[in-house]
Amino acid sequence: MPKATVRIPTPLRSLTGGRGEVPAEGPTVGALVQHVTDEYPGLRRHLYSPEGQLRNFVSLYLNDEDVRNLKRAETPVSEGDVVSIVPAIAGGTGAPSVAAPTAPAAGNPEPDGRAFGRDELLRYSRHILLPEVGLAGQKRLRDARVLLVGAGGLGAPAALYLAAAGVGHIGLVDFDAIELSNLQRQVLYTTADAGHSKLETAKRRLEALNPGIEVVAHSGRLTAENAMDVLRPYDIIVDGTDNFPTRYLVSDAAVLLGKPYVYGSIYRFEGQVSVFDAKRGPCYRCLYPEPPPPDMTPSCGEAGVLGVLPGLIGVLQATETVKLALGIGDPLIGRLLLYDALALQFRELHLAKNPTCVLCSPTATQKGLIDYPAFCGVPAAGAAPVAGVPEITPEALDAELRSGEPPLVIDVREPDEWSLGHLSSARLIPKGELLEHVDELTSAREIVLYCRSGQRSGQSARQLIELGFSHVKSLKGGINAWADKVDPSIPKY
Ligand SMILES: [Zn+2]
Repeated sequence: MPKATVRIPTPLRSLTGGRGEVPAEGPTVGALVQHVTDEYPGLRRHLYSPEGQLRNFVSLYLNDEDVRNLKRAETPVSEGDVVSIVPAIAGGTGAPSVAAPTAPAAGNPEPDGRAFGRDELLRYSRHILLPEVGLAGQKRLRDARVLLVGAGGLGAPAALYLAAAGVGHIGLVDFDAIELSNLQRQVLYTTADAGHSKLETAKRRLEALNPGIEVVAHSGRLTAENAMDVLRPYDIIVDGTDNFPTRYLVSDAAVLLGKPYVYGSIYRFEGQVSVFDAKRGPCYRCLYPEPPPPDMTPSCGEAGVLGVLPGLIGVLQATETVKLALGIGDPLIGRLLLYDALALQFRELHLAKNPTCVLCSPTATQKGLIDYPAFCGVPAAGAAPVAGVPEITPEALDAELRSGEPPLVIDVREPDEWSLGHLSSARLIPKGELLEHVDELTSAREIVLYCRSGQRSGQSARQLIELGFSHVKSLKGGINAWADKVDPSIPKY
């Protein structure tokens, strides 16, 4: 029986006792993964549907090949092979890399002939010295129209480098205000900008960096109603989103409009980058036909992220964008680049076009945009409440705490989050340890759980309800809402 190694992605390592690689034996990839889930039963729910099918948002690679291009679960395994589980944190599957000379993504192959002024020649001199760029290439960059969706961790470094490079038309989509907790990674903003609009601040910062470019601010949320109109004027779409509904919306719209989509995503210490261009390779949907359910994908607000990580991933996205605009080099089409900051390792996986993709195959059934919040199982705005869990507002909890019979309040965050600030009557039991403490909770008349934003506490409350607790609630909006509505002395993060 061949012995092989199965690589476990970071989000699932809590189910393998923190191990990133586990040994397994089996004649095929399917048998190997079965072996691992026998050893770590907690993994099963993440990898297989209740009917026993491998979930759509999980990809398996044998060495660096997607098993969907081989014999799927029946793919034979040899001694020493490595099987990687790659869930949809970011990702793509695809066709073989297309190394043919690439046309510039900017519509007109012949750049606008307008001469550069003396200052522009000086500003771009290190580009112009490169034979692969030269004056003609710099003019292509000046003509290029790039839309950045999200001006956060990924969008900030990407925007700075694209503006510096002389990309002539940069569109930004964002609706957030700048918070202190953004500044650890969102290098477009300064401390004095806290509380201001990201969009307006970013526009000013980019125009100060390069007054010769045009920066267009698209305020408000991107929706299925407005996305086609927002994306249409641009040649290249850059993904700086942090949630699945927006990612699927943007990538679907890019496919429908025939535009390349430069994908990036980050999780703790790991990142993924690819270029999806359905004309030349796979689209994001080829890789992940559907998203994972919301409770399997913590956002970086909940999971934490190393501040320099989005810097690197965003700059890789900017690199691919500049290459596409210039039409030089081998774009990351049909390839998924994985980066592990702790190991300082890059790995590359081949992605193939899905011949039955609902969006980009000859038999595509989806001809327009859909309801993405519903598709991803979350409501349109804000954090999703967890199904079947009653919520309590901060004001109502405040009143209950002042009553004769206050509820038992449990903080399910991690100890370091607790030390940032907590409710004075609360008890700390991190989400992962809750089940060990169930016996101590049975005497409580009513239990209120809270976390940062209401997601983890909702999931924890559901666990307790499933165990038979009847008076359990989750604090709506978490401690950040409590800080807004009841106690402004608690810092939001
Ligand atoms: Zn596709």
